[in-house]
Amino acid sequence: MNVRSLRFSHYRNLCQGEYRPCPGVNLLYGNNAQGKTNLLEAIWLFTGGKSFRGARDGELVAFEQPSAQLEMDFTAAGRDQSAEIIIKNSKRTAALNGVDKGAASRLVGNFCAVVFSPEHLSLVKDGPMGRRQFIDAALCQQTPAYASLLGRYQHTLTQRNALLKDIPRHSELLDTLDIWEDKLARYGAGIALRRMKYIADLSPFAAGFYQGIAEGKETLEVHYQSSFWEQEQPTSQEQLQTALQHSLLQNRREDIACGFTTVGPHRDDVALQVDGRSARMYASQGQQRSTVLALKLAEASILMETLGERPVVLLDDVMSELDTARQDYLLNHIQGWQVFITCCEPTPVLRLAEGTAVRIQQGELLADAPPVPPAAGTTCENE
Ligand code: ATP
Ligand code: MG
Repeated sequence: MNVRSLRFSHYRNLCQGEYRPCPGVNLLYGNNAQGKTNLLEAIWLFTGGKSFRGARDGELVAFEQPSAQLEMDFTAAGRDQSAEIIIKNSKRTAALNGVDKGAASRLVGNFCAVVFSPEHLSLVKDGPMGRRQFIDAALCQQTPAYASLLGRYQHTLTQRNALLKDIPRHSELLDTLDIWEDKLARYGAGIALRRMKYIADLSPFAAGFYQGIAEGKETLEVHYQSSFWEQEQPTSQEQLQTALQHSLLQNRREDIACGFTTVGPHRDDVALQVDGRSARMYASQGQQRSTVLALKLAEASILMETLGERPVVLLDDVMSELDTARQDYLLNHIQGWQVFITCCEPTPVLRLAEGTAVRIQQGELLADAPPVPPAAGTTCENE
């Protein structure tokens, strides 16, 4: 899968222009606030998703303009395709290969990408919720039925929690817990099993990418940490269901005391370990960034297995905090993928063996002469 060209008109600060990337590595460099992330965000919208920065549709249109337009030519499913997105009156609508699709979310499944943005560092730095969301988002993309399973689990969990709060005042309600726990165990086992399988599949890819990034000097291990299953991979969903039902029953007294459910997939986590130690507690900035990058590239690899072709990889502001060797891996050793990398410093352009480099200045794309490396210690400033 790759982007052949992107035309934009009044998309944020990208006024009017066309971008023609190559099928390999594409660098977008320039000072702060020039439009690099905006360009990645524009490509991302063709996945059918919302802005990866959490922006609302109306915010994507250039100030003082009524609408924004994006057109992309891309190759996917073995053929050349085109799509168009129009953002107007705070709505995104789309057409695919000349056919009106209505809401742009209906583009989903035709063009696929994986994005790394600095906010994703929270995957390592913050609590388990972000890690659970990472797996859930990937599984929802793989199988839409997973989203409804999550919805049913969440609904049942809310019911059990409400009951837990009422029981101290209405002890007769204790008997009704059985019904909700039955359901919770069934849905919860389905979720945990799929998540465990996803992490088991992801783990070798993540370890491989991390090894490449760290030149084999460090290792990354990724494990699913269940709140109710401590053994190796379960052989069936029934095993997990029985274990969860048992844990719910065992924890009833504690759950009633605190007013919420203390076991289940909503309390699970993913353990990330660099050289055998918690990445959250011990990894350096560069190691944490490398960990998230490895996870994202692994996510892309799993997606490739599902789709039968490689999704596009968007790496926003990935270079900072990485040493030259780690940067070099991204620039020259991710073979066979179309990758977009944004950075401030022009020096990576000089180290890019193959690929394209475009400078972005005030929303304009400038394919100018190779940059002169700045003096050591220079940081990027506003233009
Ligand atoms: P950095 O290196 O700091 O990440 P960047 O090149 O990635 O910078 P972008 O996030 O792409 O910068 O934003 C570039 C500019 O786009 C910002 O100055 C911002 O004010 C501007 N901008 C954002 N939304 C709009 C909009 N709707 N209309 C016009 N300009 C906008
Ligand atoms: Mg940016």
